[in-house]
Amino acid sequence: MLKLNWKLHLTRLATGISAALLIGWWSGYLVLVPGIFLLLYLAWQVFNSIRLYKWLQIWDMDPPESFGMWADIFDRIAALQKQNRKRSRQYQEVIDDFTSMADALPDATLVIDRDDVIRWFNDSAVQLLDLQPNIDRGQAVTNLIRDPAFAEWLSVQGKVQTTLDITCPNDDNITLQASAVRFRKNQRLIILRDITDVHNLDRMRRDLVANVSHELRTPLTVLLGYLEIIQAQKGEPDPQAIERMLKQARQMHALLEDLLELSRLQDDEKHDSPTQVDIPAMLTQLAEQAEDLSQGQHKIEFNIEAGLQLRGVEADLKSAFQNLVNNAIKYTPPKGTVQVTWKETHGDLVCAVKDNGIGIPHRDIPRLTERFYRVGDDRNRKTGGTGLGLAIVKHVLNTHDARLEISSEPGKGSEFRCIFPTERKA
Ligand code: ADP
Repeated sequence: MLKLNWKLHLTRLATGISAALLIGWWSGYLVLVPGIFLLLYLAWQVFNSIRLYKWLQIWDMDPPESFGMWADIFDRIAALQKQNRKRSRQYQEVIDDFTSMADALPDATLVIDRDDVIRWFNDSAVQLLDLQPNIDRGQAVTNLIRDPAFAEWLSVQGKVQTTLDITCPNDDNITLQASAVRFRKNQRLIILRDITDVHNLDRMRRDLVANVSHELRTPLTVLLGYLEIIQAQKGEPDPQAIERMLKQARQMHALLEDLLELSRLQDDEKHDSPTQVDIPAMLTQLAEQAEDLSQGQHKIEFNIEAGLQLRGVEADLKSAFQNLVNNAIKYTPPKGTVQVTWKETHGDLVCAVKDNGIGIPHRDIPRLTERFYRVGDDRNRKTGGTGLGLAIVKHVLNTHDARLEISSEPGKGSEFRCIFPTERKA
């Protein structure tokens, strides 16, 4: 650290004054010579004070050249200035690190003051909430998230710490979970996390429970009704009642089987590893089952490219193709035609199931693979479908890197094409 050498400077001044007095006495101008000396000394001080003032105004320049006491002062200030610059650089680095860290956070993060005015926000807030750094800083957060539930939640966050699920102000498909943390005196950190996936999963779980209960309710009600009649009548039960009960029990059984199949397919741990699957042999087997199901009411044609094999999980592929063939028969009136082809087309491996049955309205096609989705309820109740078949098909195709293409015309028929990439050829 630089130190001003006061002793030296005062000694120099005292020597100067003594010399001036001596010269004054010797020359006979005892007042004039020291007076001139002091005036010159004062002028030097004023001159250097002005240089100091000017230099401090242009902080970036090198210190002015000087000597004696002023050289020490300039050097001392220059050293302080250097130290200061180093410290500011370090602080800036800390601030930059913090800002990049905060920007890298996947959650939208905002700092608001006691009046709920936004003081700072990170990059995720810009993307998720479409905030604009120059415009939205200084705005009340409730002006940007205009959900009354959010305003209400924010007003109680001082007393209780809860989270709130809200819809993203810019995108109705995104669900955000808001949480608040109090820091410093009156500031709060608002964190908005994208929980769309969790939210959707939760909704799917609730829908599944509701759908399964709904599906089981009808057959169970019918069964209970017949059982109560049989119990009240006593004696031999009506064979027709038994037949109807059997039908409902089979419906419930089919539903549970499909549900178990879906859950098995979705459970990665229970998945068999892929092997070379002899699709022609599998389809030949399915052709026999299709004849049994149709009981001679349909014209069923299988066109299979011999030797065209696939790498995949045999049980899953069979389940998918069986669902498509069964649907074609179920939804094609007697005397109709069902055609199944298995061949290589433009490098892809394609299994197409085509019928000239009742067809599907265009608007329903995109939703067919949703669980429990059916085209018109009455129609399917008669066929005894579970509404899960195409969901199974889609799942199997996904796990085999394949896609499902559906084309259909109401009253003319449908075609379901499973398209496997050439890499799957075995
Ligand atoms: P389901 O067990 O009810 O047949 P799916 O998931 O297999 O359930 O099929 C969903 C719906 O798609 C069916 O309810 C039916 O309305 C329609 N569908 C499927 N395949 C055909 C087809 N080949 N022809 C006409 N409609 C079909």
